[in-house]
Amino acid sequence: MVKHLSPTNVGTYYHNQCQLYVHNAFHRPPGTRNATKAPSPLVVAQFQRGLEWEARLFRWLDVADQLVRLDATAEPKTALEIRDLFLDIGRELSTDKTKYIANLVFQSPSFKKELARFRSDPAGVTFGVAKPDLIKITRPSSEVITWEVIDAKSSSGLKSSHNAQIGFYHLCLEALIASVPPVGRGSPEILPSDKASIWLPNPGSEDEISMPVSTPISLLLPPLRTFLFKTLPQILKLPRDQVEWTLNPSCQGCEFVDSCRGATVKNGRLGMIPNLSVSDVRFIWEVVGIAADGGFHSSSGQLTDIEELDSLIKSAGMEKLERTYAPTVKRFQKLLCVQKTSTGRWSPLLEAARSHQPQASDLASPIALELIGMP
Ligand code: SF4
Repeated sequence: MVKHLSPTNVGTYYHNQCQLYVHNAFHRPPGTRNATKAPSPLVVAQFQRGLEWEARLFRWLDVADQLVRLDATAEPKTALEIRDLFLDIGRELSTDKTKYIANLVFQSPSFKKELARFRSDPAGVTFGVAKPDLIKITRPSSEVITWEVIDAKSSSGLKSSHNAQIGFYHLCLEALIASVPPVGRGSPEILPSDKASIWLPNPGSEDEISMPVSTPISLLLPPLRTFLFKTLPQILKLPRDQVEWTLNPSCQGCEFVDSCRGATVKNGRLGMIPNLSVSDVRFIWEVVGIAADGGFHSSSGQLTDIEELDSLIKSAGMEKLERTYAPTVKRFQKLLCVQKTSTGRWSPLLEAARSHQPQASDLASPIALELIGMP
């Protein structure tokens, strides 16, 4: 099977910000997918809620005679078929009417020109089949037909992952329509909307449908283009052992969590400590870098993450580091729950991770290692 990323993979990256996630999703190395694992009850409930919201929204559009429902089992449409579909629907519209296309499925374009514009390998990343929930077609004037991507999401608010997905669909449709010859003279021009939208359920009432939340394309696309056509190919060509990742609370629900949990425990990675976010972990390594660059502490290079940090906080250099960079070190020590005793400093979190044993501490909250599934 040809390697590719799905639009959902792109959206998920915006949620977990994990390089390893997209690397695994693209390369699918053996042992990184547990195909037999049943989704958690939470995932099943979220999926069900999404289906129910979509069905309710489509029913509402159907009753309003605004829905154009395509055959959901049909083959993905070609660029030409999409253009002609938009044209056919738009031609029938008066300027005060709107139609919504459901079940439009297409193969994402190769984006060769966009990748070349960012000086990336034109084969550096490929994307799979795309299926935006709705495409809104309007006819602002007799000369113009516009299309707008809308995704229905059942969450309570807009998320960056939603915007990444609608932005991606917009880029796909824009590239596909640009790839076919323009419509003949006398036909209306087909133009993209200047926004893309997410349709969320009405938080107040299930019986009422609120309007979609829109984001201007001018805000959505520049950072997304940089990610898709520059950052992503760079991540995907890295050898797997050089990809940045850390097990963290947002990993719950990730399809690769079992393999990451195993590697974290086996290699004594910082992700053994529960509840550290990705930015917390980055901050901790910045402090380790400051300690090394400033000559406060040197690493042997042979230690695991946990041993390295344990060695730093117990070193003589830690006190000097604290005097020199007081606020920074205060946050560092708080994240690792560093405690001072008559015999020196220690971290019950690091000790628990190092020894695989729960540690008694004078902290109000217990030291728990449920995240990595330790006893
Ligand atoms: S489990 Fe976490 S660290 Fe592993 S790939 Fe998924 S998001 Fe990344």
